[in-house]
Amino acid sequence: DPSRQLLDPPRVDRILRRMAHEILEKNQGPAGLYLVGILQGGEPLAKRLADLIESFEGIRPPAGALDVTLYRDDLSGREALPLLRQSHLPLSIDGKKIVLVDDVLFTGRTVRAAMDFLVDFGRPARIMLAVLVDRGHRELPIRADFVGKNIPTAHDERVLVDLAPGAESVTVVRP
Ligand code: 5GP
Ligand code: MG
Repeated sequence: DPSRQLLDPPRVDRILRRMAHEILEKNQGPAGLYLVGILQGGEPLAKRLADLIESFEGIRPPAGALDVTLYRDDLSGREALPLLRQSHLPLSIDGKKIVLVDDVLFTGRTVRAAMDFLVDFGRPARIMLAVLVDRGHRELPIRADFVGKNIPTAHDERVLVDLAPGAESVTVVRP
């Protein structure tokens, strides 16, 4: 079987609840939090975490999104050029405790581009990182503060993340 499903809906749900609790614990509650999803996969995840934080605390942290595109030049190997295409940040990030949210952390280049943008754009008090899956293969000294699941992968494998409510799954696919 070329693909392996690692997480089913109940497990994804429990992982997301745990991550929301960890974010609240580390920040002593929801005050000052600002969730920023990295499009496409990080945005629905940021909204799910904001929903859960609201259900636990009665306060919904604001959620925004950054559109960072990674151009991978497959011909010359592993070089990847992340560019910020657009930001959707409805509120100022100044003084905020930003939680960058993405579905999968791989080389770290996308997160680096997102952090570059945030520190140019404003003066956040702090930037943290939450990812559903850390699949390894970092090329920069970046780690996530909140990790749903560490899934060791081969470099050419692909993690499929489905966040459709009630049908969530994480699957690893071989090329
Ligand atoms: P990085 O910049 O760390 O190399 O790659 C992370 C970005 O690329 C994230 O925005 C993530 O959505 C996407 N990405 C990298 N590898 C995978 C993968 O295996 N599956 C999915 N769904 N996204 C990936
Ligand atoms: Mg992505």
